[in-house]
Amino acid sequence: MGKWKVVVTDWEFESLNYEMDILEHDQIEVLPVQCKSEDEVIAYCQDADAIINQYAPISRNVIESLQHCKVIARYGVGVNTIDVTAATEKGICVTNVPDYCMDEVSDHALALLLSWTRKIPMADKETKQNQWDFKKTRPIHRLRERTLGLIGFGKIPQALAEKVKALGLNVLSYDPYFPEEEAAKHGVKLVSLEDLCRESDIVSVHAPLTESTRGLLGDQEFKLMKDHAFLINTSRGPVVDETSLIDALENNLIAGAALDVVETEPISRDHPFLTMEGVILTPHMAWYSEEAEKEMRSKVAMGVADVLLHDQYPKYLINQKVKETLRLQSNDGGGRYALLSN
Ligand code: NAD
Repeated sequence: MGKWKVVVTDWEFESLNYEMDILEHDQIEVLPVQCKSEDEVIAYCQDADAIINQYAPISRNVIESLQHCKVIARYGVGVNTIDVTAATEKGICVTNVPDYCMDEVSDHALALLLSWTRKIPMADKETKQNQWDFKKTRPIHRLRERTLGLIGFGKIPQALAEKVKALGLNVLSYDPYFPEEEAAKHGVKLVSLEDLCRESDIVSVHAPLTESTRGLLGDQEFKLMKDHAFLINTSRGPVVDETSLIDALENNLIAGAALDVVETEPISRDHPFLTMEGVILTPHMAWYSEEAEKEMRSKVAMGVADVLLHDQYPKYLINQKVKETLRLQSNDGGGRYALLSN
């Protein structure tokens, strides 16, 4: 039998060492390329047995051109680069890594919360450029007993809710799919989106980007917020309507924003956020730590190894329905996930 061909359609790391640690095998050949367009992906992948993907489009056209691919593995959480329906129809497993950076993203949201409320970026700039004068940072208010509103109550905001207990914040959340009694166990009260906007001093966005969450925060929601409130977004830019946010900031409907994600990334060099006093920006880095990167890349490769070498469904199988068309020896979706000593 020939070797299994694994194509890495695109990647932005210094090497593929972690992936190779998992996939180095005499039955596997790894072909790393840097595809941008659909045509390039088709050219390299049509005879692939597995695909590892970052941003290159794995559209229906691409999927229909695949002759014997069994698994498409996406770096990170989102699978918006892949037409999952087309993959399921074609009997191809789609897998991601949903659990590699809960600590990092919740830490980052907390860092943005503290940086914004303690005015750290402004104080740093003033102190280095102008003078040693705390009055430049007025007004700063005590955090204890303020209210944090979490939009979405998945794994990341649950970790954040745990961490902010030490700060003495009250925590509310809007998540229409999360059980109220489970939220109560975390000390968090579930409320409507309107009540969350009205009652929160800090609003932190953690809902995934879907057709129903696109523009979830818009003019209506900003009008309900307190004028001293500020917004944190470590989720996905388009969950917040950017025109409405700019308008809310310019008209002092809210006091500021701390954003790790924006509508179009990378941000354009003439974007209004770049010159706004009350806005802190970071370059979609909340997920990142050396350990999280290693975990994500290793788990992506393991998803491929599970299917090709161990005849198992990957642990993080997104399209469970594929089991109706792609029969693998082990149906439990167990996968090989013992790893990870960093
Ligand atoms: P998760 O999958 O554990 O939870 C998502 C939650 O959102 C679920 O509880 C779901 O019920 C809720 N939800 C779905 N639709 C909603 C809606 N309309 N309104 C409110 N809540 C809704 O997700 P997670 O692990 O907590 O991650 C949250 C998001 O963080 C991810 O979707 C991703 O977009 C983002 N993220 C960002 C980075 C980064 O580097 N900035 C890294 C990882 C994840």
